[in-house]
Amino acid sequence: MLKLFCPNYYIHSYRALTASYLKEHGITMLLCDIDNTMVAHDEPLPDRDVHTFVESMKNAGIRIVFISNNVEERVQRFVSELDVAGYSFAMKPLPKTYRRIVKDFALSKQEVAVLGDQLLTDMLGANLMGFYTILSAPVVERDLSFTKFNRFFEAIIFRLLKLSGRLTKGEFDD
Ligand SMILES: [Mg+2]
Repeated sequence: MLKLFCPNYYIHSYRALTASYLKEHGITMLLCDIDNTMVAHDEPLPDRDVHTFVESMKNAGIRIVFISNNVEERVQRFVSELDVAGYSFAMKPLPKTYRRIVKDFALSKQEVAVLGDQLLTDMLGANLMGFYTILSAPVVERDLSFTKFNRFFEAIIFRLLKLSGRLTKGEFDD
């Protein structure tokens, strides 16, 4: 059960993730969360570092899609200048939107990695799908009100993961 919350790779920031690392793990498609993974939830647009990250992945042949539980307006505004697809109201951790992306892009689960900042949505949903999972520390401490609720349970899961020796918060792999 605890295993379903545990990432395969734990990094301090998306900036630490490289295309060569993904390729070594057979990944061709990266599904990225937006809020608090790429930018704070109240930052409407991608900043320069996000642009650089997306470009470097694309240039290396890794496809990128953004998938968010947030509303369509937020997601479409964020992806508009990045020239990538965005899936809003994803209802992570439910598999619904992940399944849709697998179908839309004709993917096999072995070639998909998910990057996100939350154990209860991003990691759980991706592990249920059998994707490669990458957890990043949140960009900022402030969260959406619904996320604050998730963070309460996330703190408990982090404690259990530490007790079981699987993962320690803040001890990154990068
Ligand atoms: Mg997030």
